[in-house]
Amino acid sequence: MQENFSLIIHGGAGSWEHLKREGYGSEIMDSVRRILEGGRHILATGGTALDAVEYCAAELEDDPLYNAGRGSVLNEHGEVEMDAAIMDGATLNAGSIAGVTTIKNPIKLARQVLERSEHVMLIGKGAQEFAKLCGMQQMPDDYFLVEHRVRQWREAQKLGGMMLDHEDAPPNKLGTVGAVAWDSAGNLAAATSTGGIVNKRWGRVGDSPIIGAGVLADNETCAVSATGYGEQFQRTVLCKMISNFVYFQGKDAAGAATAGIEYLVKKVNGLGGVIVVDHQGNCGVDHSTSGLIYGLIEQAGPSVCKFTK
Ligand code: ASP
Repeated sequence: MQENFSLIIHGGAGSWEHLKREGYGSEIMDSVRRILEGGRHILATGGTALDAVEYCAAELEDDPLYNAGRGSVLNEHGEVEMDAAIMDGATLNAGSIAGVTTIKNPIKLARQVLERSEHVMLIGKGAQEFAKLCGMQQMPDDYFLVEHRVRQWREAQKLGGMMLDHEDAPPNKLGTVGAVAWDSAGNLAAATSTGGIVNKRWGRVGDSPIIGAGVLADNETCAVSATGYGEQFQRTVLCKMISNFVYFQGKDAAGAATAGIEYLVKKVNGLGGVIVVDHQGNCGVDHSTSGLIYGLIEQAGPSVCKFTK
């Protein structure tokens, strides 16, 4: 039997021109395509939406091109502190971690929180303890410190401010990662993982691990993963807002994504992007940045990898 499914992954919002100038263009598209095909394999062989989004987010974390896992941006002390969350639309179970170091795949730790703890969110020291109990793979600090992030952080320090790993303010690179999926059983799932924003204050937590702000999945509506200025997504609770557009107004994924980005811009002049798959497997993507790196498979169709809507 041919399984029906949909999957979208993103590698953050940013300026395509800048990436091409730096020579990352084809590397990124190859990486997005490869990871998308890995996700396709899981869903096409009857795997769950939850397994597919965890797999895709973990692969994106392992690729130093993205701001998550290896390749995360650095905080004001030149350290990596990562946030991630995963949500199951069938049960509304969720797992989230914030401010972790040394964890190779923060999204896998978030999945453990979902599966094995009675809590939704663990932070800092407690999350590290829990990681040990779960036998999560840990890596030395220098595994995470990649050259282009150190350069980017030095420039941010010189300029004396925090900066989004986004848009047209050099030396931006790539953003946060995420995945949303709809599986053959009709279940939705979403995952988001990030190193946050460049030169962020110690202890700063963005939207990515906050259910409803940077990630959401609900079988009755949609699955959403966001990337952009975390504070703006927190203040607008944007992923929940997008789900509300489906729930209360009957919008499909594309309509809800566009309404969400319009809301983000109208309310807080927000900068970022979202990927959305709805309860019927329709896909939607929108952003207020000049680009968003993403790849999608709609209703088991062909893979589409792009940098704009
Ligand atoms: N949303 C992330 C944060 O604010 C950053 C990003 O999407 O690149 O932590």
